[in-house]
Amino acid sequence: MASRAGIMESVSPRKLIRLSKSYLGEAEKHAVMGVLDRDFLGMGSEVEQFEKALTKFFGRNAICVANGTAALQLALEACNIGDGDEVLVQSVTYVASFQAISATGAKPVACDIDPVSLTLNLVDAEKRITTRTKAIMPVHYSGGVGELDKVYAFADKHSLRVIEDAAHAFGTKYKGKRIGSFGDISCFSFDGIKNITSGEGGCIVTDDPMLISKIEDSRLLGVQKDSEKRYTGKRSWDFNVSSQGWRYHMSNIMAAIGLVQLEKYPEIAKKRQKLASCYDHFFSENSEIKTIPHDYFEVVPHIYTVRISKMNNRNLLREKMINRGIQTGIHYQPNHLLSFYKEKNISSFPVTDSIFPELLSLPLHPGLNDEDISYVSKALLELI
Ligand SMILES: *Cc1c(COP(=O)(O)O)cnc(C)c1O
Repeated sequence: MASRAGIMESVSPRKLIRLSKSYLGEAEKHAVMGVLDRDFLGMGSEVEQFEKALTKFFGRNAICVANGTAALQLALEACNIGDGDEVLVQSVTYVASFQAISATGAKPVACDIDPVSLTLNLVDAEKRITTRTKAIMPVHYSGGVGELDKVYAFADKHSLRVIEDAAHAFGTKYKGKRIGSFGDISCFSFDGIKNITSGEGGCIVTDDPMLISKIEDSRLLGVQKDSEKRYTGKRSWDFNVSSQGWRYHMSNIMAAIGLVQLEKYPEIAKKRQKLASCYDHFFSENSEIKTIPHDYFEVVPHIYTVRISKMNNRNLLREKMINRGIQTGIHYQPNHLLSFYKEKNISSFPVTDSIFPELLSLPLHPGLNDEDISYVSKALLELI
């Protein structure tokens, strides 16, 4: 192995700097082996423990599910949102936000974004309100939340539920308070590259006990009170089902990884914040590269995205970056352009249309160090 690695190094002097990556160690492997040894892989005591640990972390009830998309869908359904309803959401988000809404039967109403924070533009959203609008889904783009208090004021004014897509914002604070610790409903993702991972996975955080009890059943095919049984290693044989459910629960294998990651979270958060601040420093003097202004004492960034003005060929730039061993990304292709959502969203998106071609995401994960950030930043500054 050692000699092979040696040869690889002599061929390519620099390792590939990946856009994003999990941050795993022996403790996660050990935790998974523990579950395999005990031979109870499905939903059981590890999931209960992970939920308790998350509930302590947020100071509110957390309930675990199979992934972040499932978290959003079940949260919407628990609010009785479905056929004929409309949900306001920004066009620039992962397609998961849109799919979660359309999975309930509701229509995702694409909205424009704020040009600075790349979060939902409330002036635009207000124009798209109809009598069918039931909820607003702010997406905490890159880990920042924009003016979240205004989103809540807007929701109050129009009697809307707020389902926060907080997939990027695990650990972020807003005005000193952790996302998930206040507000209506916050949904998180624990997929492999998010701020903490459980392999795949997600959770819903709220202080509404009705929602929690509905989701406890809906994640297990609607089987009433099955969650309690599974925590103790049992399952229901004699049960009732009174609503549509899904097989969206979390497994013990996933929860075991999540428990270790949650313990490592303070270290992970510090690393991500330090690396993003380091990028900010490199780009502060350049007028063509616009960064998203975040206070990294509060924001725990999931991605590091910049806007590059006068970028005439993003593909070529990305190719040149990869030739230097640097992976880049595009977060995200506007959803109103996808054929499945296109006709339902016939309107203009001036900010989205002008900003999307300028977006480029640079590598950000806890496995990087200051030297990597310096290398990436200098390469980008040279190439633009
Ligand atoms: C990752 C992500 C999701 C969905 O999470 P999964 O766990 O992948 O299902 C939803 N919204 C955004 C913005 C995301 O980045």
